[in-house]
Amino acid sequence: MSIRQKVLFKIKSLELDKLEMPEKVSSYFGENTFSLETMQKHISKNTLEAFKIWIAEGKTISLVQANEIANAMKDWAMAKGATYYTHWFQPMTGLTAEKHDSFISFTGPGKVIEKFSGNKLIQGEPDASSFPSGGIRATFEARGYTAWDPSSPAFIVESKLGKTLCIPTIFISYHGEALDKKLPLLRSDEALNKAAVGLLKLFEHNKEVKKVISTCGAEQEYFLIDKNYYNLRQDLIMTGRTLVGAPSPKGQQLEDQYFGTIKERVVNFMFEVASEAYKLGIPVMTRHNEVAPHQYEFAPIFEESNIAADHNQLLMELMKKIALKHGMVCLLHEKPFAGINGSGKHLNWSLADNQGNNLLNPGQTPEDNLQFLAVLAAVLRAVYLHGDLLRASVALAGNEHRLGANEAPPAIISVFLGEQLNSILDMIERGVKSKVSKADIMDFGIGRLPTFSKDSTDRNRTSPFAFTGAKFEFRAVGSSQNISTPIAIVNTIIAESLDYVAEQIKRATAVKKDFNASTLQVISKIVKETKDIRFEGNNYSQDWVKEAKKRGLPNVSSTAEALEALTKKENIALFEKYKVFSKEELIARYHIWIHMYNLTLEIEANTLNEMVNASVVPAGYKYEKLLASTLEELVGLKKSASLKINAAVLTDKKEHLSDVILKIYYVRKNALEMIKLLNQAKQVSNEKRSELYFLKLKPLMEHIRKHVDALESVVPDDTWDLPKYREMLFIN
Ligand code: ADP
Ligand code: MG
Repeated sequence: MSIRQKVLFKIKSLELDKLEMPEKVSSYFGENTFSLETMQKHISKNTLEAFKIWIAEGKTISLVQANEIANAMKDWAMAKGATYYTHWFQPMTGLTAEKHDSFISFTGPGKVIEKFSGNKLIQGEPDASSFPSGGIRATFEARGYTAWDPSSPAFIVESKLGKTLCIPTIFISYHGEALDKKLPLLRSDEALNKAAVGLLKLFEHNKEVKKVISTCGAEQEYFLIDKNYYNLRQDLIMTGRTLVGAPSPKGQQLEDQYFGTIKERVVNFMFEVASEAYKLGIPVMTRHNEVAPHQYEFAPIFEESNIAADHNQLLMELMKKIALKHGMVCLLHEKPFAGINGSGKHLNWSLADNQGNNLLNPGQTPEDNLQFLAVLAAVLRAVYLHGDLLRASVALAGNEHRLGANEAPPAIISVFLGEQLNSILDMIERGVKSKVSKADIMDFGIGRLPTFSKDSTDRNRTSPFAFTGAKFEFRAVGSSQNISTPIAIVNTIIAESLDYVAEQIKRATAVKKDFNASTLQVISKIVKETKDIRFEGNNYSQDWVKEAKKRGLPNVSSTAEALEALTKKENIALFEKYKVFSKEELIARYHIWIHMYNLTLEIEANTLNEMVNASVVPAGYKYEKLLASTLEELVGLKKSASLKINAAVLTDKKEHLSDVILKIYYVRKNALEMIKLLNQAKQVSNEKRSELYFLKLKPLMEHIRKHVDALESVVPDDTWDLPKYREMLFIN
């Protein structure tokens, strides 16, 4: 019996601890967060006020006040059983980072007390020299600092034997450059706020608006695989995806999994994730089966973007941790299995003002609707001008397998608006009178814009940037990605267009003296100019690829090439203008992300090489030997005339044997070539290396896989040690 088969006997349902959670979510939602409400109970009124102003306006609190909050935070956390604290941050490598410190300080020989000061709350200094900085820090000043981000509440992470207070922070260099993914997001919110308020204030009914934020809800897709199988697949362990594996006869073609009944084992996992998420104030809302076998999704209720970004990171961590408790592994990779759907993260994005009005929701009055269309025009223009940046924001090795692979939007960025909205834009484009009264606006159909129901707009699931009711859905984001960067980029390009729209309206109104007509004219012009970015058809089709080419829309499939957008002069100028990234910060990210792409591919190639040599080829040889000895025996029997054997039978046996020999030969030959290529790549720059990997290494790996998968389907089950797709994906 192979190791793989032995596993089958081990799989049994685990004895789970009963969840000791109250039935009502509202009674414990956010109980492990140091929220404003909790704060209110622990600090003075004045400090609370100062803190609120800090969040709203960025006016920093005093050290005395910080000390008061730090103390309150410590007392609260200790009362809940926390003994350690950590500054929690999001380095540029995609994971989150923590360095834990105990609350204890010495008070005398052998005596300690628990202490936590405002200084420690506000700033930390992890030894950061091992985090990638992309050249921002020279090693002699390798220090990085974490600084408290008061806009995201501190929280307590529980493990079986202890609790840790986690303080969300940004991570910066000595000179204040962002070394993380969070600070640029916060800066982009600032830029978006300024631009959006500027535009809204032009509208008579909106003179009082104070603040605009971006809102985000990230739908998270993932796979769950039995841990016993996972442990036998070095590719899953090392790379998060299967590098070899023949497709199982049944995949997702019956579509019997999508929204199907969720299996007991998985439901248990989902219950536990939800209850842990609720404690942390993460508003997990929807859960369901996805299209591929063993693929699922969690979706939260949307929140302010920077909180949504923290919550998505936390949710991913919870999912991974809790899956293990249930004897499963949560795969967040964009393409864990070939031949079935990969996983993405749909980033639902919109804008809300300080009254909670959604700016992408058409309103009740003509004025509201005119404003809605102005914001919409800004979004269209942003995507039209900066598709390259959107593409760059989702560029990573894992996503390269998914984008454009008939399951996810292509690398061509376009916008879907839906029939209703399109016909309104068409009408505006066709003609705007020079004077427009309220009644005219009604005639345009703008006065009575319908609230776009999801059903009428959400039919197109193939678009990378789709209007779905009262928000846009950016669907090209990878499932494993930290959403901070994609949001920061969306925020920035839209801020720039909001500014542009506001400026154009001001200019036109100065000439025309008719605000409504001028605004419509500006909208009409933008609608005309950005037409090429709109596409309502099937984004997965080859026709669209051709059509997009005709329209001059870029279709960049390589990660490294997509990342080049970060180094373009006009893009650097854009980010510098909006103070989201400095030139150095952008270039640093470019280098880090190219480097990560290369490292990912090197780990994959080396893992594949080991699997081929240590698992696949030996199994192949065993089978080869079996075939050879069978053949030899038959030939012997035939010769001794003790058995009558048809010549065709012998030919078949020979062909089968030489076929297996040939497959093993190809596997080995290409694996050797792969290693040669990896050695060659060491001689060239990172940029050249990524090109080499995309153009040569990846096809070579695919080639090896093709032969390995062919072998898998002939080699006897009991000699094949790697768990098969049909086992990993169909045994519960
Ligand atoms: P669908 O199922 O079509 O993708 P849903 O209405 O279920 O759409 O919403 C999907 C996600 O969009 C949810 O996470 C939801 O919270 C989020 N969402 C809804 N409205 C907004 C908004 N105004 N801003 C940001 N995200 C939103
Ligand atoms: Mg969706």
